[in-house]
Amino acid sequence: MKHQNAGCGGHDDAAQTLQQALARITAEISPVEGFELLATRDALDRVLYAPIHSTVDVPAHTNSAMDGYALAGAQLPGDGSRAFRVIGTAWAGRPFDGTAGEGECVRIMTGATVPAGTDTVVMQEQVQRESDTAIIGTGHKPGQNVRFAGEDLKAGAIALDAGVLLRPAHLGLIASLGVGEVRVRRRPRVAFFSTGDELASIGETLGPGQIYDSNRYTLYGMLQRLGVEVIDLGVVRDRREDLEQAFLAAAAQADAVITSGGVSVGEADFVTETLDRIGEVGFWTVAIKPGRPIAFGRVGGALFFGLPGNPVSVMVTFYQLVQPALQRLKGLTAPEIVPRVTATLTTPLRKKAGRREFQRGLLSVAADGGYRVEATGRQGSGILRSMAHANCFIVLPEDCGSLDAETEVEVQPFAALC
Ligand code: AMP
Ligand code: MG
Repeated sequence: MKHQNAGCGGHDDAAQTLQQALARITAEISPVEGFELLATRDALDRVLYAPIHSTVDVPAHTNSAMDGYALAGAQLPGDGSRAFRVIGTAWAGRPFDGTAGEGECVRIMTGATVPAGTDTVVMQEQVQRESDTAIIGTGHKPGQNVRFAGEDLKAGAIALDAGVLLRPAHLGLIASLGVGEVRVRRRPRVAFFSTGDELASIGETLGPGQIYDSNRYTLYGMLQRLGVEVIDLGVVRDRREDLEQAFLAAAAQADAVITSGGVSVGEADFVTETLDRIGEVGFWTVAIKPGRPIAFGRVGGALFFGLPGNPVSVMVTFYQLVQPALQRLKGLTAPEIVPRVTATLTTPLRKKAGRREFQRGLLSVAADGGYRVEATGRQGSGILRSMAHANCFIVLPEDCGSLDAETEVEVQPFAALC
């Protein structure tokens, strides 16, 4: 991997689209090696390492889906009604061990094993009970209201494929097989640091021209929610030697390294230059706003994402590019789909054609049930307030220009991001 125009100040003019950048990044990434064996509950939100085969039929026994009466379907009346003698009760977990014969039925509860001699359940609301007799009319089908052994899953079949993100339903499915331990893929280790002479950490007194480092906090939050191991390497000054050392230290302990700041063409922007010397930079620019420029490459054995310094740009580039990449690194076989909704703009929006823009918006539901969205004030890439007061991205495609109020736009709710 080599950047496209090394001698031109570090920026290729022909920026690629977000889709192209994503495809390029994805092609470079394979899942981290290694697994852990965890108790089923601890595997929540982890990625399954190997397929899980069922060792049992699920359900294990043919059982009733209703509270009612079990009988042989062949004995259902063709017309009128028929009286059956109730010879016992089958409870869930306490089977009836007799056999129902001609003209006999068994009172049965949901989940109880269907007794010998029966294959059909009539729900209790449709039965007229008179002491030990159950009177059953027409309109029933043989085999109804019965769940067959193995109908959910046959013994030996694959219950879950590798590469699945384990959600509550998966934990339940695994438990239903009687499996108490699960192999999950090791979590990727992701190291990050901020670059900039102007940055102070919390607890330090601000010197002239200094600002507090906020990117390490947004990055921490986004990475933590993504379920990776987070390694915070602090602030690194804008000095070639410091950056080089920080990169080498980060690459030695992490599967991926994320930096913020120092990727533009300013005098003190040494990140890509350093990476060029000790690693490889794949590309620098993606046609999105905010978020240009962004660097992607490798250092040592680790992936490298060089995000811009501006606080909103960090978040946009993380969600749009880094998050899908890290999901692949985690071992997910299919990327998580971020749903979008269509909403009507309440105010006009300004935009220049050329780049895909992620403006920050407030999405609400109107009285008629439709979505409405307004931008959250000034949209500068340094204005973190525009993110903090928002609940969605308003996604404006490359070719779109300024928009009038009442135009329909696509919106990515933050709740759908990690
Ligand atoms: P840079 O990409 O390094 O030129 O930074 C662009 C802008 O983002 C500058 O105004 C920086 O002061 C600001 N910035 C860079 N890193 C951080 C950070 N970690 N926290 C807050 N602001 C930052
Ligand atoms: Mg900087």
